[in-house]
Amino acid sequence: MLQIDALPAFSDNYIWLLQDTTQKRCAVVDPGDAAPVLDWLNQHPDWVLSDILVTHHHFDHVGGVEQLYEKTGAKVWGPALENIPARHVALNDNDQINVLGHEFKVFLVPGHTLGHIAYYHADASAPLLFSGDTLFAAGCGRLFEGTPDQMHHSLSRLAALPAHTAVYCTHEYTLSNLRFAVAVEPKNPHIAARMAQVTAWRAEGKISLPSSIALELLTNPFLRVNETSVKEKADEWSKQDNDSPSAVFASLRSKKDTF
Ligand code: ZN
Ligand code: FE
Repeated sequence: MLQIDALPAFSDNYIWLLQDTTQKRCAVVDPGDAAPVLDWLNQHPDWVLSDILVTHHHFDHVGGVEQLYEKTGAKVWGPALENIPARHVALNDNDQINVLGHEFKVFLVPGHTLGHIAYYHADASAPLLFSGDTLFAAGCGRLFEGTPDQMHHSLSRLAALPAHTAVYCTHEYTLSNLRFAVAVEPKNPHIAARMAQVTAWRAEGKISLPSSIALELLTNPFLRVNETSVKEKADEWSKQDNDSPSAVFASLRSKKDTF
């Protein structure tokens, strides 16, 4: 069983810290800044950072990788299709890797970037997903490199994971994502309830993560493009008949860009 904590970085990033408490070994996901990780290691001098997992090449995800590698010698895993500093292992779709004695499966999930990968641990009782900037809580990443079709396919793949999978994304964007979700589905009671919950958490300075696949299926408009009401809202906004789930996705994503 891994213990997972968030190390806040920049204004709204989380660096996920995976801890094997018996071996006192840890791994980090997407260290955009080395400082929060080095601070933690300084406060835990008997711990070893053994692995660095990277989802994609953006600076807020890789900015601390080189420094952490130089200080700790940790093994750096990252997407094969992107330039990742100090990468030791180039990962492709469906690769299986072992980190801290746990198996992780790699999914290629293009859209936000073309080589973006997610890491999935298929534990029967507590599956985990590190989704980077692809699947956010109540939202999804912007399409910087990929097409709407690619992103829709990537999100559909993640949405098909077991409902109780815990979802760890890289940004605290949940509240602004929920504002958009309410605009898409003003009558969805699950979105309203989540909005109330996350508003209360954020007012207390609490993190809104992890999410779960089950909660995302109920409240994330980008996973709900098959719903008639979501299609109708997308049609209204885009002034066209979005005749496929992928077209609904494309219209919603472009609306969200300026929302
Ligand atoms: Zn990014
Ligand atoms: Fe990011």
